[in-house]
Amino acid sequence: MDWFHCNQCFRKDGAHFFVTSCGHIFCKKCVTLEKCAVCGTACKHLALSDNLKPQEKMFFKSPVETALQYFSHISQVWSFQKKQTDLLIAFYKHRITKLETAMQEAQQALVSQDKELSVLRKENGELKKFLAILKTLYQQRRHMGLPSGREAWTTSR
Ligand SMILES: [Zn+2]
Ligand SMILES: [Zn+2]
Repeated sequence: MDWFHCNQCFRKDGAHFFVTSCGHIFCKKCVTLEKCAVCGTACKHLALSDNLKPQEKMFFKSPVETALQYFSHISQVWSFQKKQTDLLIAFYKHRITKLETAMQEAQQALVSQDKELSVLRKENGELKKFLAILKTLYQQRRHMGLPSGREAWTTSR
């Protein structure tokens, strides 16, 4: 920490230092209790020791070290969330595959039903034609005074 020094006498070494709420550092000799000796504001003093809270300690740690710790933490968060997203994507991909298969099956069923329908239509058309012929024959027979019905039909063959 080559930036660290008492803001009054500028000494760097020594065991007891204090930091003020106005952001100034003083050694044990220079610290004043009522007002800050540098900016003159009424302030609180905090003795620098290993028992500082993490948010206070952070101000004395290397910013690079702090940044690296943050990056490592952010990377963990990012990889955790990415894994979650990957699971979700895999689930949706699986669902899409299943839906595509179901859709293909439905399309195939539709095609075969269409074929069946056209066969039935053709058959129906032929039966209608045949029925019309039968009706005509029947009416002709009635017109000619011949007995109609099944009996007449079978005898005419
Ligand atoms: Zn000093
Ligand atoms: Zn001050």
